[in-house]
Amino acid sequence: MTTGPFDLSGKVAIVTGGNGGIGLGMARGLAQAGADIAVVGRNETKSAAAAAGLRKLGVKAISVTTDVTDKAAVDAMVERTYRELGRIDILVNNAGINIRRPPQTLDPAEWDSVIRTNLTSAFLCSQAVYPAMKAAGGGKIINIGSMMSIFGASFAPAYAASKGGIVQFTRSCAVAWARDNIQANAVLPGWIDTDLTRRAREEIDGLHDKVLARTPAGRWGAIDDFAGIAVFLASAASGFVTGTAIPVDGGFSIMG
Ligand code: NDP
Repeated sequence: MTTGPFDLSGKVAIVTGGNGGIGLGMARGLAQAGADIAVVGRNETKSAAAAAGLRKLGVKAISVTTDVTDKAAVDAMVERTYRELGRIDILVNNAGINIRRPPQTLDPAEWDSVIRTNLTSAFLCSQAVYPAMKAAGGGKIINIGSMMSIFGASFAPAYAASKGGIVQFTRSCAVAWARDNIQANAVLPGWIDTDLTRRAREEIDGLHDKVLARTPAGRWGAIDDFAGIAVFLASAASGFVTGTAIPVDGGFSIMG
């Protein structure tokens, strides 16, 4: 168990999309530092399995089946987490999807779906946890951006818009809630080996090697690469860090 500024024992974290990929990597880090976890996702079986795995790390973990694009479902998820785990200290807004299509053929319904899942959900979840965090005297919000928070992408206009937007949303919450001792920060992953990018590698010829060539670290990221940044941004160690957007990308974003 962690001690000192990174200790999260007695804290409760909600991780949207915590049943796999980057969200699960972050949830594992938070659990290893002592936090109890609510795993949030639509796939009940996957979320229950993730929660069972987290419990093996010695913390409480529940799975709460939720579509984070639905305000009533988000409010019910937050209410249930508070009731069953007793408090809410940390929110990781990680749930995300991509629909790969250029701007000229992206359907408006596809645009809405990506924006609602990647951006509106962060607003709904942050708004829903705010009263509990304020009443507790503080909290931590971690939003997941992307390299497309920085760069454009011809094949992902809605995704890039959502990921640019989430950085500005993060900064707005950081400013609005600083006096409530709530820190809000964004993490910008590089190219990470998950279900999301496995599909991209199948669809985009040569993607695997292009990423390797452009990433100074010389490898794709792994979900375990997100444990440390999650613990830092969720703990007292980052008490004076707010409104930032931190790349976790093996150097992808600084490669000339
Ligand atoms: P995964 O596809 O592995 O995970 C996505 C997660 O989001 C799943 O747990 C999924 O659970 C959940 N999710 C999707 N839609 C909803 C919804 N409507 N309600 C609730 N949960 C939902 O992808 P990654 O781990 O790769 O992605 C996680 C985040 O990281 C995303 O925001 C993504 O944009 C971002 N990212 C990923 C990068 C990468 O290289 N992998 C790079 C940059 C950013 P379920 O299906 O059960 O609902």
